[in-house]
Amino acid sequence: MGKATKHTLDVQWICTKPPGSVSLKDHYIRTNYLYQASTLMALSASSDSPDSNSLNDLLSRSYVHNMNWVVKKALIKLSPTIKRTVCKKCNRRLISGKNCSVEVTNTSNLKTPVNDILTVSCICQKFKKNYPIGKNLNYKIFAHNDNLLPVK
Ligand SMILES: [Zn+2]
Repeated sequence: MGKATKHTLDVQWICTKPPGSVSLKDHYIRTNYLYQASTLMALSASSDSPDSNSLNDLLSRSYVHNMNWVVKKALIKLSPTIKRTVCKKCNRRLISGKNCSVEVTNTSNLKTPVNDILTVSCICQKFKKNYPIGKNLNYKIFAHNDNLLPVK
């Protein structure tokens, strides 16, 4: 009988609904707006000379700077997928083929696919990030894990 009571408690815990409202919702909305605006401005920046500081490029970097400021002041967390698309040095919204280069390198002697490294480098030449994509092909970032919330 004691086991049945414990089992009932476990089921209640599993069936709890996720929270209906998000705390600090206004800050998340503002962050989302700034991220989308920076993406739009980065896409509309002139692609003829990516090194030049065109007005749209400066505006895009300003939006990313404001987004980082909101995140820092409101103590909220950005998704890693958003963090990976922003240069930490010059606050550029990284868009492949536009203002950053993406390449797969393999520096091992055996050249096995396990050692493939995805390198993302910004045009500011100060930011370069390596992702070991060959280690685990089915890798998911923690935020995309399906088992985060206990759902029915
Ligand atoms: Zn940069």
